[in-house]
Amino acid sequence: MNVYDHPTFDMASRQFDRVADYLQIPDGDRDRVKLPKRSLSVAIPIHRDDGRTEVFTGFRVQHHLALGPTKGGMRYHQDVALGEVAALAMWMSWKCALCALPYGGAKGGVACDPSKLSSTELERITRRFTQEIIPFIGPQIDIPAPDLGTNEQIMAWMMDTYSMHMRQTVTAVVTGKPINIGGSRGRREATGRGVMIVCDEACQKLGLDRERTRVIVQGFGNVGSNAALLMHAAGYKVIGIAEVGGGLHNKNGIDLKALADFRQKNGTVHGFPGAEKAETADLLVEDCEILIPAATENVITSRNADRVKCRILAEGANGPTTSAADDILTDKGVFVIPDILANAGGVTTSYFEWVQDRQGYFWKESVVNEQLDAIMKSSFEDVVRYAETHHVNNRIAAYMLAIDRVAYTIRQRGIYA
Ligand code: NAD
Repeated sequence: MNVYDHPTFDMASRQFDRVADYLQIPDGDRDRVKLPKRSLSVAIPIHRDDGRTEVFTGFRVQHHLALGPTKGGMRYHQDVALGEVAALAMWMSWKCALCALPYGGAKGGVACDPSKLSSTELERITRRFTQEIIPFIGPQIDIPAPDLGTNEQIMAWMMDTYSMHMRQTVTAVVTGKPINIGGSRGRREATGRGVMIVCDEACQKLGLDRERTRVIVQGFGNVGSNAALLMHAAGYKVIGIAEVGGGLHNKNGIDLKALADFRQKNGTVHGFPGAEKAETADLLVEDCEILIPAATENVITSRNADRVKCRILAEGANGPTTSAADDILTDKGVFVIPDILANAGGVTTSYFEWVQDRQGYFWKESVVNEQLDAIMKSSFEDVVRYAETHHVNNRIAAYMLAIDRVAYTIRQRGIYA
């Protein structure tokens, strides 16, 4: 029985197998490199605000420990399942290896719908979940971070619960914390900033200038909103934003600052007067130069890939493109910036946060952004050069580089790491 049985894990496995063929990884080594090293499933009983007891399920998966501690986000979403978390942990391994960060990949989450929980209920879930996984996390073991449905506040509760148990403040146990308790300047915007940096590089390669480059973003959360805001400020023309329940379109460009203010005031992007209403599904196939899916998995599929019109697909989300869609995009000549490269700005700045916490010395935002810029650009160059040299697409190139680094380290240390 495959305990990770899940469509997302199947997708991550297929991607791995394809690359393992290219790299000619011996059969015996493949499962060692592919399958997670540790996975944990825990029950999280809490009192709801109305006095009822409800038990939620939480997971943490650590993919490999060969390069150091593991690193990856915590997701709160009703569809969270062990197989999905395992796939995301695998992708984190490849992402860290691609950016030469000293981590294996991890991921975790709680199957819950945060929009239906009060702040006090979320705090109880977070503290109970953290309590259950304390033996498996720590600055030298596994360092969680925010992901879909979690945020700085949730990281603050995790850090506090862990610290109370250790009887000392341990800021380096999680990243993506508020700045006043050990967070890094620039972390909040980092994933979106990283998306913009690789889009800049791709535009330069394809001879596109920012002013005439139209951008559509799916998801107006941490990644999507920051990518859109930064790209708008840098001169790109953001013409579409897709959200749950519908999106917005303005062919002359949306004023992102006004949209962010509107969302802050109203709690939603719906009803924003500076753009027309549009269907999310239509926005994904609308005319544009850059499409940034920054919401969930399986968004570009065999059902819509042939109608996608962008020249650059920058994957802000993890796993937004299915394998079948990927082949269609390659045939169409779309320049794909794969997730493990496009959204690596988050974990890279999390790495800076962990370094700062351990040093007790905090960097200026300009230093954080400069270091991020250097890592994103050199990772982009590595991928594009590898793709051109080996005549493969960018995704295969990124995976080949990353998986080769992990497989090499596992061989070097021995099969048990
Ligand atoms: P988030 O919860 O802050 O935002 C997600 C946004 O997407 C929300 O506004 C939500 O309403 C919207 N959304 C959800 N489903 C949608 C749909 N079907 N159509 C349109 N909009 C939809 O989450 P986030 O942190 O921005 O993460 C988004 C993606 O980026 C995830 O795949 C996550 O794993 C990935 N990611 C996040 C980070 C990070 O630093 N936060 C880093 C790397 C990768």
